[in-house]
Amino acid sequence: MRFEKLEIAIAGAGIGGLSLAAMLASRGAKVVIYDQMAAPQPVGSGFVLQPTGATVLSHMGLLDKAAARGAVINRMHGKLAGSNRTVLEIGYGKARHGIAIQRVALFDILLKAAVSAGVTFETSSKAVDMTGGERPTIVLEGGRVTPPADLAIDGMGANSPIGHIASKELGYGALWATVPWPEDGPFHPHELEQRYFRASRMAGVLPVGTARDGASKMATFFWSLRNQDIDAWRNSGRDVWIAEVAKMWPETVPFAEIAEPVHARYRHHTRKPIAGRRLLRIGDAWHATSPQLGQGANMALLDAASLITALERSATIEDALDLHLRQRRLHIWLYQTLSLVMTPFYQSDSKILPVIRDIAIAPTTQLPLMRQLISRLVTGEFLDPVKRIGFDQRVD
Ligand SMILES: Cc1cc2nc3c(=O)[nH]c(=O)nc-3n(C[C@H](O)[C@H](O)[C@H](O)COP(=O)(O)OP(=O)(O)OC[C@H]3O[C@@H](n4cnc5c(N)ncnc54)[C@H](O)[C@@H]3O)c2cc1C
Repeated sequence: MRFEKLEIAIAGAGIGGLSLAAMLASRGAKVVIYDQMAAPQPVGSGFVLQPTGATVLSHMGLLDKAAARGAVINRMHGKLAGSNRTVLEIGYGKARHGIAIQRVALFDILLKAAVSAGVTFETSSKAVDMTGGERPTIVLEGGRVTPPADLAIDGMGANSPIGHIASKELGYGALWATVPWPEDGPFHPHELEQRYFRASRMAGVLPVGTARDGASKMATFFWSLRNQDIDAWRNSGRDVWIAEVAKMWPETVPFAEIAEPVHARYRHHTRKPIAGRRLLRIGDAWHATSPQLGQGANMALLDAASLITALERSATIEDALDLHLRQRRLHIWLYQTLSLVMTPFYQSDSKILPVIRDIAIAPTTQLPLMRQLISRLVTGEFLDPVKRIGFDQRVD
């Protein structure tokens, strides 16, 4: 398909929307992004770019920039709180790694790529609906309708208003804070470390590199919390939280003392990828999960890249959408299912599931074949999603 003739409207300047816009515009398509924010800006703290997402960035020519700001991660390691017992041990295998990066850093890299590729931004433009058809449109708050396009994309993330079902919110969310990385501290610079108390409390420390060139290195500190407890947490004050943190993981008290945490709520849904004629959902708008398996940002990058290869190989938009769904569906189904099954073992009120996790699952994951399998699952590479979308290059 000739990209020069394509007009694409994207709702949502997140990881999926920005990467798709940059790839489309750099191939000659006319792209407009509509976002609710007054200026495009990231939400949240940091996350791990897995080899899957890194391969997409590499094809976009942006991986070096991301790697320069991020921190190499080669191990994920979790222990029971107050004990030395390891219940999560995941390595990346030979010469492979993840890149932990601040959301603000990746956002900045993608935004610059989109702007320089010629994408038009319309900010303070909150989408409330989308209308399918030969020339689909996006309906904005206030009743304005965007100019008709060849394809309209819902990249509005987990809380997209298109087909929103409130009951899909999970009971547990987390406090997330970006804090200075303690250079001589007790944490390993290339590891995601976690501590668990049953399944009701999970804390983690992830080194996430620098927000921009020359800035200080930072870490993401997260602390799981039931959504219904957020008001009580706020009202009880910082000292009470610090005392809890000290009991669970004393080394992280300095983070809790200075953190300005944001409370993130999670959703689990797998919506229909096609929301109407020539209306496509990508990223969390299609498939949202708790960040337990750490795949969401990588999945959004894969969705965007898959649509590009499908458009490149198809004569019509309809054929491209069919091919895109064939390329992505199985991988998404697998990770949505795994996330749904695994999340209650780490974030729930269950007393039985964490016991099963610690006694039965944790030792099994240390068997040689299982180690390899789990490693491929966590790196997002199970079912070879990169090959499925027609990218053959691996980034090691
Ligand atoms: C706390 C937390 C930790 C995470 N950790 C990881 C991790 O370690 N690894 C990983 O891979 N993923 C992680 N994720 C998931 C990852 O952030 C998401 O999967 C990813 O950002 C999804 O990208 P997206 O483009 O679909 O949506 P988003 O990046 O959420 O972007 C959505 C965009 O749509 C805009 N928008 C929303 N509503 C409207 C509207 N009505 N009109 C116009 N614009 C709108 C928003 O302003 C935003 O710019 C985490 C998520 C959270 C919340």
